[in-house]
Amino acid sequence: MFDRSAHWLRLAENVLPAGVNSPVRAYRAVGGTPPFIASAAGARIVDVDGNDYLDYVSSWGPAILGHAHQEVVRAVADAAAQGLSFGAPTPQEVTFAQRLSERFPNLELLRCVSSGTEATMSALRVARAATNRDVIVKFEGAYHGHADALLVKAGSGAATFGTPDSAGVTEAVARTTWTLPYNRSQAVRDLLSGHGSEVAAIIVEPIAGNMGCVPPQPGFLDSIVEGCRSCGAVSIFDEVMTGCRVAAGGASERFGVVPDMTCLGKVVGGGMPLAVYGGRRELMSQVAPLGRVYQAGTLSGNPVAVAAGLATIARLDDDLYSRLETLGAQLQAGIERAIKRREVTATVQRVGSMLTVFFTSGPVVDFAAADRCDRDRFARWHRGLLTRGVYWPPSQLEAAFISAAHTSEDVERTIAAVDAALGD
Ligand code: PMP
Repeated sequence: MFDRSAHWLRLAENVLPAGVNSPVRAYRAVGGTPPFIASAAGARIVDVDGNDYLDYVSSWGPAILGHAHQEVVRAVADAAAQGLSFGAPTPQEVTFAQRLSERFPNLELLRCVSSGTEATMSALRVARAATNRDVIVKFEGAYHGHADALLVKAGSGAATFGTPDSAGVTEAVARTTWTLPYNRSQAVRDLLSGHGSEVAAIIVEPIAGNMGCVPPQPGFLDSIVEGCRSCGAVSIFDEVMTGCRVAAGGASERFGVVPDMTCLGKVVGGGMPLAVYGGRRELMSQVAPLGRVYQAGTLSGNPVAVAAGLATIARLDDDLYSRLETLGAQLQAGIERAIKRREVTATVQRVGSMLTVFFTSGPVVDFAAADRCDRDRFARWHRGLLTRGVYWPPSQLEAAFISAAHTSEDVERTIAAVDAALGD
């Protein structure tokens, strides 16, 4: 089934670490050969052996319209024909920024960058400059990209491999990154009441996605935004995964909580390398050349990437989100039925079109709970899905994503595969 992928993996391992350009792709958490991909269209992805899968990785979030959506591809082709990169301002990036400010009203000024990592790293620099303080606070199991300061008790691939603190990050850097358990409002309040004057920023995934899908408990996000306000720190929502995914205005709109700064990526780039950070005008006015915070990029606001982003967000309307909600609810209910029928210990957590099946009794509210999952059981289930034509994220601590290209029949097929794989 994976002969050609195995061939490419052997070649790849000679030239790329573990044969991949991002760790989770190597399938170390689930074993077996990672399918090497040939193409994708709509909700389906095809590997080099010709295996055809229903895709729930969705490029780790961006593919909200499904793969190779006609209008996005046309926009990219048209933009490319006008030139790939200028290193100069373009009208399209202005429109792009306007569209995002409409959806995220706290983005009075924003900057385009090329990855979520750059977005969070730059937002923290702005927060430190604005407050003249060093400490940043993040939550255990949250992943905000691979900037040094953020690889402390990180989720996603870092947690999957049991190395939450990366080698190569100096102690001096790690010392100014403090961590708290996710979803503990009281812990946020306690920390700020004792040390608020040292804290530059609290950065949070407003719906955690990198320890699997963990929604915020009532009051948690408010405790961060209000706590920061009362001690002069900057609240940062990392909506790289959730922005334009769970609502047009992201988790901020969904939960009605507005932070000082927001980071976006994935969906807003429509599958191209494009991300954003921004916030209130007085904070972002510190960014060069207006202010003394230096941040720049040769390919920032790249016209081809911006074209993909604009074409994608143009299609994100109420109908699309209600369709994703319906499909998400259908998938969740079907998986829960299968779990019950097979008498397996597992729990499904979902916000809109983000979903995780945790092999633990749940509810999963923080990293300690996510970490109790039976990962061997997950790996077996994952292999069962793959052999039945379902391409699911290859790690227990990730979220699966539904796209608008999935149909109700696709979801029924997936539920049947989930049920069968639970019996393996
Ligand atoms: N923040 C969050 C919440 C993410 O999920 C990710 C990527 N999974 C990042 C930041 C980093 O984004 P990128 O991979 O584009 O650097």
